Amino acid sequence: MSVRSRRAENTGFVCGHCAADVPANTDGHYRNHCPFCLWSLHVDDLPGDRASDCRALMEPVGLVEKSGKGWQVVHRCTACGHRQPNRLVRDGDAPDDLDLVLSLPWL
Ligand SMILES: [Zn+2]
Ligand SMILES: [Zn+2]
Repeated sequence: MSVRSRRAENTGFVCGHCAADVPANTDGHYRNHCPFCLWSLHVDDLPGDRASDCRALMEPVGLVEKSGKGWQVVHRCTACGHRQPNRLVRDGDAPDDLDLVLSLPWL
């Protein structure tokens, strides 16, 4: 993926689950889930590739800790069951709701 297309993905969006206006990420990574309810959309086959045609909502089901990457929230697609760990957003505008993050079970 080119730098250009990656930048194009780092835009604000309206959450498909809670309908919140989600601002673009400002910590240098693009945002792939809602910071307010933590739900995501199934748009990637591999993290960041935007190659999936599924486009269904992905539910946050738990947390994992990966060496070198810290905590990640695991999303499970409500349509196809695809599971995908995603990095948490801890800095910048609208970081992930930590209370919500901590309410998730460790997997
Ligand atoms: Zn949301
Ligand atoms: Zn899916």
